Amino acid sequence: MCTTRSIFAIVGGAAALACACAASGWCVNRLALPDDSWRWPAVAASHLVPIAGAFAVFVGMRRRTIQRMTAALSVDGPPSLDVASAPVLLAPLARVISERLNAATQKQDQLSVRLREAEIRLSIAEAERRHGEAILHSLRDAVLVTDQFNELTLANASAARLLGFDPGDAAHKPIDHIVKDEGLSRLIKEVRQSGMVSKQRHVEHAMPPASSTTPASFDVTIACLPGAGAQPKDVGGVVTILRDITREKEISQMKSDFVSQASHELRTPIASINAYVEMLLDAEAQDEATRQEFYGIIKSEAERLSRMIDNMLNISRIEAGIISVEAVEVDFAKVIREVIETMQPQAKEKKIMLLEKIGPLIYTAQADRDMMHQVILNLVSNGIKYTPENGRVTVSVENDDASRSILVAVQDTGFGIPPEALDKVFGKFFRIESYKRMAKGTGLGLNLVKHIIETVHRGQVGVSSQVGMGSRFWFTVPFEFQSGG
Ligand code: ADP
Repeated sequence: MCTTRSIFAIVGGAAALACACAASGWCVNRLALPDDSWRWPAVAASHLVPIAGAFAVFVGMRRRTIQRMTAALSVDGPPSLDVASAPVLLAPLARVISERLNAATQKQDQLSVRLREAEIRLSIAEAERRHGEAILHSLRDAVLVTDQFNELTLANASAARLLGFDPGDAAHKPIDHIVKDEGLSRLIKEVRQSGMVSKQRHVEHAMPPASSTTPASFDVTIACLPGAGAQPKDVGGVVTILRDITREKEISQMKSDFVSQASHELRTPIASINAYVEMLLDAEAQDEATRQEFYGIIKSEAERLSRMIDNMLNISRIEAGIISVEAVEVDFAKVIREVIETMQPQAKEKKIMLLEKIGPLIYTAQADRDMMHQVILNLVSNGIKYTPENGRVTVSVENDDASRSILVAVQDTGFGIPPEALDKVFGKFFRIESYKRMAKGTGLGLNLVKHIIETVHRGQVGVSSQVGMGSRFWFTVPFEFQSGG
């Protein structure tokens, strides 16, 4: 199309030039010249004028076209050339330039799409990296990653806290500089050397955390990361995860101690019941009075067994955090009076005076009423059990405005507690040896008191005592209930 137009333009232009020349020649012939010697110069001059005109038009058009092409190529955005409107002689050049431009524009479009994709992928990868880092830093377990030169490449906040290093300053430092515990850094290096890619190693390791001097127990998981090489044994680095299992170990130790103590304690009343039942079966109790005595012993041992089981269940429920608490506004004066009334027959039997010391104020706090009844009952019952005849047990209550708590105390004039036993009386199954004959007990009553007050109600318990003078057991309960266990 462009070539046809070019041919027409060239032929048209040449024809126009020829016509112009012929016309100017015809005009010269008509001129009245002085003689013939003027004719040829006049003809030549008349031909020069259209040729020069045509040349000027050509040069002008060429300049305008180049200006147009330059302008078209210098605009912002994708450059384009209008080949159809290019002058005849420049049309092939314009076509080639236009084709090149189109190809370059297409390439640029493709590259722009790829660049956009790469930018999106990069921002996704960046978001994923930040997400991964946030997860890593929120882990309670300490995580350390080392490279093939045993230098630290990554560590979370827990690792920095546990091992006492500055995370901003630790990158690319040798692991021995970061981990002061020789055993652990040796372990990490050994695992890397072993080259067991895709295998994990679990070890239990004891070491003191940076913040303390007491050794803690850690479950250490170490795994090799594959390296960049093709070899399966090519180890890139090592991931080390340290989980603090100190509390878990303590709990499992406590549990096994509790089970062995509990089974030991349960055996005593069972053995006693067995023995008396056998005596009855063997007709060793020949008169009714002896039989009644044996029945009484069996009953009291069975009751002790049942109390022990109840206490053990309550304690383990509180320890497991599954006890249900019904916090209400408890009137402590009322609970104390109820307990005194319940315990009065036992006190009378031993001629013990059971007194209350309650002021004129209101003594209330948010607490589980039944649990408070149980606590005061346990303390008053102990007061009566471990006080000789004609003694006195006094229960008092006051508001401790400073600590915003109720303070209840049970004071007796009993045997007292030796100083070395004072911090043991709240432990499980602890009973003062020499008092065992004075009263039957489970060794769990005070432990339950401690759990109810401290774990469930966030209060405090304590005791002060002097041997031969008596004991004062006290506890506090905050006015407002704060959920504990
Ligand atoms: P128990 O069922 O044996 O009374 P507790 O846990 O209530 O168990 O008490 C643990 C031990 O603390 C008791 O066996 C006793 O030796 C001692 N104890 C408790 N209360 C008193 C007290 N008021 N005076 C002297 N000793 C006490």
